[in-house]
Amino acid sequence: MSQKFDVVVIGAGPGGYVAAIRAAQLGLKTACIEKFIGKEGKVVLGGTCLNVGCIPSKALLDSSYKYHEAKEAFAVHGIEAKGVTIDVPAMVARKANIVKNLTGGIATLFKANGVTSFEGHGKLLANKQVEVTGLDGKVEILEAENVIIASGSKPVEIPPAPLTDDVIVDSTGALEFQSVPKKLGVIGAGVIGLELGSVWARLGAEVTVLEALDKFLPAADEQIAKEALKVLTKQGLNIRLGARVTGSEVKKKQVTVTFTDANGEQKETFDKLIVAVGRRPVTANLLAADSGVTIDERGFIFVDDHCKTSVPGVYAIGDVVRGAMLAHKASEEGVMVAERIAGHKAQMNYDLIPSVIYTHPEIAWVGKSEQSLKAEGVEVNVGTFPFAASGRAMAANDTAGLVKVIADAKTDRVLGVHVIGPSAAELVQQGAIAMEFGSSAEDLGMMVFSHPTLSEALHEAALAVNGHAIHIANRKKR
Ligand code: FAD
Ligand code: AMP
Repeated sequence: MSQKFDVVVIGAGPGGYVAAIRAAQLGLKTACIEKFIGKEGKVVLGGTCLNVGCIPSKALLDSSYKYHEAKEAFAVHGIEAKGVTIDVPAMVARKANIVKNLTGGIATLFKANGVTSFEGHGKLLANKQVEVTGLDGKVEILEAENVIIASGSKPVEIPPAPLTDDVIVDSTGALEFQSVPKKLGVIGAGVIGLELGSVWARLGAEVTVLEALDKFLPAADEQIAKEALKVLTKQGLNIRLGARVTGSEVKKKQVTVTFTDANGEQKETFDKLIVAVGRRPVTANLLAADSGVTIDERGFIFVDDHCKTSVPGVYAIGDVVRGAMLAHKASEEGVMVAERIAGHKAQMNYDLIPSVIYTHPEIAWVGKSEQSLKAEGVEVNVGTFPFAASGRAMAANDTAGLVKVIADAKTDRVLGVHVIGPSAAELVQQGAIAMEFGSSAEDLGMMVFSHPTLSEALHEAALAVNGHAIHIANRKKR
């Protein structure tokens, strides 16, 4: 006899596992199906984010930054650190341990909240039935009142650079190098390419990033993107814009990449090549022909603002649907859907999803950029504050970058907060909180900020919007 559930979730990434936990908290009988096989040959929860995404990349970013600091940045503090070396396998093993602890933690949370875990491949059939094919091939049918599809995404592969066992890799392979490549190529100057390129550059690799577009970080505010290009280039990343990769040849554990740029066809040889050209939704063998769920023209499951698919009672969330491919976007959609299933009126503010690039300095923003607001014809006032004028940043010897606050010229309402600098991700979150509550630049300016903090740079940038900054000359005096 088939088992019946109020909610069946397919996929246990940050979208699926959060949806399952919230649904169970709300008293719904919930199951979650996952098929990801971890390093130990067993099914693990947590999806891309915990296993091969956000967490392992940040573990390597943090380790590699400590190495870089010990080698390059201690002397200025009067600290002598001679003979600093790295043990890459130990660094990678530390990362694996963090992943193991966190993914194990999700299993514990499932038990604590009463979520039933199924190991295997989930497929949506007609009438909200879900077929689970276990690792042993055994098939089981679950009857669901509601289904939440959270099958996530995987790296895009491109014909000019097909993956190989150990020379041309995707982001997952780039988290597993056991030694520092002397010359590293990265295709794609997006978030993942810049973060992984930074990890290996800090450890000593000579890194070239090949980016087809002429514009660097087109989604970011132009002023911030310009500053980012300057700072990252100064760190040694060779970022080549307008360079489209057209071919590659692997010989004797090296790869020669062909690309075209303004000067015509070029070739460059690398010891490793990371393909980081984006991610695509996972829908293979997920939907039976008669499931009724439709896919949009770009391969994403079609959903409305509340993540409802074309079939009543079937929802889809996270990377498999439209919008930013970000873990926090996936999780919040999971919460919204679980709560709506339970009868609450939850919704999500898609205008305030923060974006972060975890390079050093970090690059982060929430809301709209100056160029997009201008293109919409919105008149704005802009305030900026450089970390070079921040006492706290100076104390930390970490003064690159700035905070930029953009407000509506008529109402003073904050429309965007953009930061490149130390702890940009945390500062932008403060901006997001303010914006969620409809703050004006003046409101932010009137708040008391602890001294000395990096947050004071946000305070000063908000004051600068109306020409009231104290610790920098104001562009506009009022
Ligand atoms: P996923 O995390 O992809 O999870 C989907 C799960 O569903 C997978 O475990 C998969 O095995 C399972 N699944 C798929 N099909 C089936 C099926 N038929 N049956 C059973 N199970 C199935 N985002 C951030 O917000 N911050 C970051 O710092 C960040 N860094 C990243 C770094 C890297 C290197 C990468 C690759 C990604 C990063 N991301 C980051 C993106 C983030 O990982 C994704 O946006 C997020 O994981 C999406 O969550 P999801 O639940 O939609 O899908
Ligand atoms: P993202 O989607 O943010 O991960 O960024 C991926 C980047 O890869 C985009 O900026 C693309 O322009 C870039 N890209 C895609 N294909 C190629 C290619 N063949 N050569 C160079 N860059 C590419």
